[in-house]
Amino acid sequence: MTAAPAAFPPVLSLKGVGPALAAKLQRLGVMDVRDLVLLAPLRYEDRSKITPIASASCGKHLIEGEVVLTDITGRSRPLLVCRLRDASGTLDLRFFHFNASMRNRLLPGTRWRCFGEVKVSSFGKEMIHPQMERADTSLPGIVPIYPTVAGMTQKVLRRLIGQALAWFESRPEWLPSLPDSMVPESTWEALHFLHQPPLETEVAALNAGNHPILKRLAWEELLAHHLSLQSLHDFRKAGQGPKMDASSPLIDKFLASLPFRLTDAQRRVFAEIRSDLASGLPMGRLVQGDVGCGKTVVAALAALVSHGSGYQSVLMAPTELLAEQHFQTWRQWLSPLGIKVHLLTSKMKGKERSEVLAAMKAPSQAIFIGTHALFQREVRFARLGLVMVDEQHRFGVDQRLALKAKGEQAIPHYLVMTATPIPRTLAMLRYGDMAVSVIDQLPPGRQPVETRVMGQDKREELIARLQSWIEGGRQAYWVCTLIEESQALDCEAAQATAASLQESLPGVRIGLVHGRMKAMDKEQVMNAFKQGEIDLLVATTVIEVGVDVPNAGLMVIDNAERLGLAQLHQLRGRVGRGPGQSYCILLYKPPLTEIARQRLDFLRQCRDGFALAEKDLELRGPGEVLGTRQSGALQFKMADPLRDQDLLPMIQEDAIAVREQGAECIYRLLKFWLGDGNQYADV
Ligand code: ADP
Ligand code: MG
Repeated sequence: MTAAPAAFPPVLSLKGVGPALAAKLQRLGVMDVRDLVLLAPLRYEDRSKITPIASASCGKHLIEGEVVLTDITGRSRPLLVCRLRDASGTLDLRFFHFNASMRNRLLPGTRWRCFGEVKVSSFGKEMIHPQMERADTSLPGIVPIYPTVAGMTQKVLRRLIGQALAWFESRPEWLPSLPDSMVPESTWEALHFLHQPPLETEVAALNAGNHPILKRLAWEELLAHHLSLQSLHDFRKAGQGPKMDASSPLIDKFLASLPFRLTDAQRRVFAEIRSDLASGLPMGRLVQGDVGCGKTVVAALAALVSHGSGYQSVLMAPTELLAEQHFQTWRQWLSPLGIKVHLLTSKMKGKERSEVLAAMKAPSQAIFIGTHALFQREVRFARLGLVMVDEQHRFGVDQRLALKAKGEQAIPHYLVMTATPIPRTLAMLRYGDMAVSVIDQLPPGRQPVETRVMGQDKREELIARLQSWIEGGRQAYWVCTLIEESQALDCEAAQATAASLQESLPGVRIGLVHGRMKAMDKEQVMNAFKQGEIDLLVATTVIEVGVDVPNAGLMVIDNAERLGLAQLHQLRGRVGRGPGQSYCILLYKPPLTEIARQRLDFLRQCRDGFALAEKDLELRGPGEVLGTRQSGALQFKMADPLRDQDLLPMIQEDAIAVREQGAECIYRLLKFWLGDGNQYADV
């Protein structure tokens, strides 16, 4: 065990960061300098070459020019126009949103560099809302574009990341030597490159993620995960699990109360879990199964065994919405058997909250449901026997370690459910400490979802169909896909879509959920949708996991070409859960690139999550930037487990070499990559 090094400085310690900015950063998941340097760019833009105005054709360009005039025009809506001139010609900048200080800064005679889309019309060339900086203070370069939230600009992020990099510069390296297969850059040098690539760097290699320095970072992250799993594995092998009695009489009672019979696959997987629970060794088991295969009921059966042996159980969900939904299902299933189910959410305060916390500390046999974040805090359990995690792909290994420490006596059994298809090599890395069960069968009577690919030009037709679908008494989803760079824009897009659909469908009851709504409001809308009080639910991808409304058999995915196949497949899994034919309409904005067309077409024909994941990789040529990292399937910071598959075989060997560099080095490596939640030192 090593003495804990001081935590990383919080963002508030950086120059120019006050509480307001810190709150915005928190929404991005950025709390300290470590989070800042690990904030991976979504993509890079080549702003290394200045295009003369005369030769700037349609498309994105960097131009530099001197302000000739600035004026506010427009009758119904004011418009700020600023004319720039260089040696070759002139171009107008147009701003629909502006303020007085902006106008005052665009003084005639000042020189600016502007980056944006050039449009050519009969009035000449123009750029609308370009990104701009004073020419005397900005350097042309390769510019990283980060994910951001409302009110935070790329410029601010770049500046803060620069400060964070400076902090790390003075720290000692944690990997004194690297294997020969990696470029020799130190971690800090590689991070520096990630955020400030030198001018001559090939932008295509950066965007494809196959630049050797980016590969080196991905390697280090994968290595850190591997090492932490290894320690977890050693820990569990040496430990004791709660010894449970697998013959709880409640199990048969519960099965008899269900409106369906378990599939053979569900039966088999439950038998595997049951024997683990009775073995006396701590279970670590991953239950993998396509969306809709019925993982939840298998988990509930495991909880019954735990209950029958006098233990508490916890179910962790990735979102509040999903936790609330599980709570309703589980309560409905288990209360008739006299089992207490508690929900813990972040909005619960005061008495309500302290009652749940008290129930955890009491030696009861209750079941607790909430988001993983809630179980990370001060929560203590009297007799925790089983920890279940839904959709584990959203969490890191570190959380698994953190919860482990809560069990007072034995190490609780651990059950993870995921619908994410994971290639074998990756499963080894990610779940190397766990046994795997697969539910490879869907409940009977499910009709495969019919998938259609449709251009935006057919929108009217589609809306007419939607109308008759809803008149037929069924419900539908309309999913607005992520605008990567800004969650705010994404929500705005969903709001705008809901409004325009309401205009075209006046009699239809439309609801809206998006990521920036309060949990309580989201829940209200979701409940209304579940109760059939809403016909059409317009949503961002927040509904991606777990939402279960059988009567909603039609899903439209707007701008489907923006998402990865795995994510589209997850979304599509929300429909096809009830009787009757279900449909998934993939709406795209023409023209479609050849790769995008192939991807959508493959999704139309294929229902096998594994095949889809592999296809995603195969089709992702250089320049295709949407990886699993961005689409959120597996949340590494730098590594993209599909793209970086080639690194996996060497990780095991490299881990041995790194272990020889000493415990201190490993501690610092894990602390950096896995963060404060990582409890390697305690294990
Ligand atoms: P997932 O594996 O995606 O989490 P769920 O557990 O949410 O799937 O199950 C999807 C739906 O199928 C739920 O409505 C559930 O009640 C139902 N279900 C589960 N098992 C069966 C079964 N054996 N027969 C019929 N319906 C089932
Ligand atoms: Mg589920």
